[in-house]
Amino acid sequence: MRLVKGRPRCLTGAGFLYCPGCHHGIVLRLVAETIDELGIAAKAVMVTSIGCSVRCWTNLDIDACQGAHGRGLAVATGIKRASPGSVVFTYQGDGDLAAIGMAETLHAAARGEAVTVIFVNNAVFGATGGQMAPTTLLGMKTSTYPEGRDARHTGYPIRVAELLASLEGVTYSARVAVNSPARVREASRAVRKAFLAQMDKEGFGIVEVLSACPVNLKLSPVEALKWIDDAMIPCFPLGVFQER
Ligand code: SF4
Repeated sequence: MRLVKGRPRCLTGAGFLYCPGCHHGIVLRLVAETIDELGIAAKAVMVTSIGCSVRCWTNLDIDACQGAHGRGLAVATGIKRASPGSVVFTYQGDGDLAAIGMAETLHAAARGEAVTVIFVNNAVFGATGGQMAPTTLLGMKTSTYPEGRDARHTGYPIRVAELLASLEGVTYSARVAVNSPARVREASRAVRKAFLAQMDKEGFGIVEVLSACPVNLKLSPVEALKWIDDAMIPCFPLGVFQER
């Protein structure tokens, strides 16, 4: 039998520590494939902070650093400035990047730091039990809003890809999903562009990936794929919002 596709070299082969149906594994594979294709494993540095994103530590065979909750882009800024030849990326969820770390996110983007952001948006704080996040959809039930998010009390979902695209410091900003094979291929292209924004243009690149958290959504993995189409994409449209 001919092997069509194998495990990316910089994926260690350790089992993913994610729940069944979680999209983090797909996103990490795309990151690993991109690192292999660009030949940057020796100079890549991953920065995680707090959340389910941090469970990837045993999966990627590259240098990595752990920041405090929400401080991923502050840590990434320091590493990149101290070591300009490195390729630095953060791997963050929405509770981390868009709630606790929103100030770090906005200011790193506004400064145009030459780093890449892989932003996994599953609309809740996944690691700590599915509390409401800045990206929670209106009407969506969470452990902290069992009646569903109401804009009169908690405002509206924040569209990070569009928000950052409005800043002059941002070279590339896109939103993708990974709930079908065609979308996975599109997501792969976006991840590559976000890395090239840093490497070729010395700019700030971000890819927001709409992602399922079946455990906290209380959906089966297959139902969660449909939820991305039916609920998430109408609120968070896919597309490229900035490309300089
Ligand atoms: S809690 Fe949600 S985001 Fe975290 S690993 Fe499980 S499915 Fe994935």
